[in-house]
Amino acid sequence: MTECELLSKCGFFNKYQNAKQAACSGFIAMYCKGPKMDVCKRKAYRAEHGVAPPDDMMPTGSMVIE
Ligand code: SF4
Repeated sequence: MTECELLSKCGFFNKYQNAKQAACSGFIAMYCKGPKMDVCKRKAYRAEHGVAPPDDMMPTGSMVIE
């Protein structure tokens, strides 16, 4: 798989896919469309809590600071 299966419903991806923040585009390349998708903390959160995490939670588990 070359893209995360949650891409279309992921709040982080949808909010930040066109963002200019270098951190966000880096994470998208690394996680959402890259080798680290299976260790995404957003995915873990969803599995643990049964609901999606806040949109501003990054794949690392930290929050985006705007
Ligand atoms: S942030 Fe995580 S859950 Fe969302 S699309 Fe990227 S890899 Fe998938």
